[in-house]
Amino acid sequence: MALIVQKFGGTSVAGPERIRNAAMRVKSELDKGNQVAVVLSAMSGVTDELVGHARELSSLKTPEALAEYDTVVASGEQVTVGLLALALQEMGIKSRSFLSWQVKIKTDETHGKARIEEIDAHIIEESLARGEVPVIPGFQGVTAEGRVTTLGRGGSDTSGVALAAALKADRCDIYTDVEGVYTTDPRIVTKARKLNKIAYEEMLEMASLGAKVLQTRSVEMAMKYKVRVQVLSSFTDAPGTLLVDEEEVMERRLITGIAYTKTDARITLAGVADRPGIAASVFGPLADAEINVDMIVQNVSADGTTDITFTVAKTDLARAEDCLKKAQAELKYKKMITDPNVAKVSVVGVGLKSHAGLAQKMFQTLAEKNINILVISTSEIKISVLIAEEYMELAIRSLHTAYGLEG
Ligand code: ADP
Ligand code: ASP
Ligand code: MG
Repeated sequence: MALIVQKFGGTSVAGPERIRNAAMRVKSELDKGNQVAVVLSAMSGVTDELVGHARELSSLKTPEALAEYDTVVASGEQVTVGLLALALQEMGIKSRSFLSWQVKIKTDETHGKARIEEIDAHIIEESLARGEVPVIPGFQGVTAEGRVTTLGRGGSDTSGVALAAALKADRCDIYTDVEGVYTTDPRIVTKARKLNKIAYEEMLEMASLGAKVLQTRSVEMAMKYKVRVQVLSSFTDAPGTLLVDEEEVMERRLITGIAYTKTDARITLAGVADRPGIAASVFGPLADAEINVDMIVQNVSADGTTDITFTVAKTDLARAEDCLKKAQAELKYKKMITDPNVAKVSVVGVGLKSHAGLAQKMFQTLAEKNINILVISTSEIKISVLIAEEYMELAIRSLHTAYGLEG
C-alpha cells in the first residue's frame, strides 16, 4: 500500500462538477489499495477576486493590513476542502477537511509570502489510520500566535509537497490543467513537447524564471526532502511529468525549455555620475526598502556619466520610483525612465555550461526577428533577456523552434 498526496489546482476544482471529477481521481487511487491525503487550491479566479476586494479597501502597507489580507485570501481554499469532503462522502468514502490551524501547518510571520516551518503530521496520520481521506487547504498556514498566513500566489503546490514530505508519502501528484511540464508554456506554443522526466535542478530554474506550472518553493522543497513529484492533468489519463535526480533523466538534453515572465518592470537612470560607489548608492536605498532588483546593466561612458538599467517587480515599481526620487540629490541622475511593458524570456539548459554556441543562438534568433534586447543576464544554466512585452510570444515561438524543442 502506497501513500499518495494528491494536489488539485484551481481549474481542477473550479465548480461542483470539477470537484466531483477530482473526487473520482481520489477514488481510483483508493481502489488501487493506496491511501490518499488531498491538498486543494481555491476555485480558479476566486483568489484573484479576493485579492481585488482587499486591494479596493486597503493599500496593504502595514503588517496589520497584511494579516487581514491573509485572512481574506485564504478563504477560497476553505470552501473547496469542505466541498471535496462532501463529494467523497456522497461516494461512500470516509473523508473530512482540516483547516491549516487544525493540522498545524506552522509558518513564519511573513504575511502574504510566509514560509512553512513545520507540519504536525500526526493529526493527518491519525485520520488516515481511521480510514479517512483527509482534505487540507493549500496556500496557507498559521503562525505561532495562531494567525492565518498565506504562502504567496501558486502556494498550494508547496503545501502539497510539504505535506508529502511530512507524511513521508510515496508520491505527490500535482493535478493541473495541462498534461505535465512542457518545453515551454503549451498555451503559447502549441507544438511544445511534454517532458516525461525533468531533473529537480532544471525544474527549479524553469519555475524561478516564470514557468508557473509549479511554484518555485515547491520544487526547492521536493529537492530538499526527496519527494517524488508528478505533474499531470486532472482532465485526461495521459501520463504526466516526473521530477527526478539528474542521473535519472535518460534523455540527455542540452536545452530543457523556455520560460517567461511579465511580472517585471524596467527602470533606467540616465546620466548618473560614473564614479566608484555609484551602484551601491543606487541599490542601497532599494534594498533598504526591501525592493528586489533582478537584471542589471550599466554602461561605461566617455563623458563621466553612465546609464544604469535594472528591473524590479511591477508591484514594486511605484515604491522604487519614490525611493529613487528621494535619492536624486545624491545620485544626480539626469532622467529616470520607467517601463512596465517588458517581458523576460529565458532559455534554460545544462548545455549552456559548456556550449558557447547555444547562447549565441538566442541572440541570433532574436536579431533575425528584429527583437531588440534591453538587458541580458546569465547564470550557469540559463540566459535571460529583457524585451518589449509585445514581442514576447514571437520570441518564445522563434526560440522554441531554433533550439529544436518541438515534439
Ligand atoms: P493550477 O491552478 O493547477 O495550479 P497553474 O495555472 O498554476 O495551474 O499552472 C498551470 C499552467 O502553467 C498551465 O496552464 C500553463 O499555461 C502554465 N505553464 C507555464 N509554463 C509551463 C510549462 N513549461 N509546462 C507546463 N505548463 C506551463
Ligand atoms: N489559490 C492560490 C492562488 O491562486 C494558491 C494556488 O492556487 O496555488 O494563488
Ligand atoms: Mg498553480
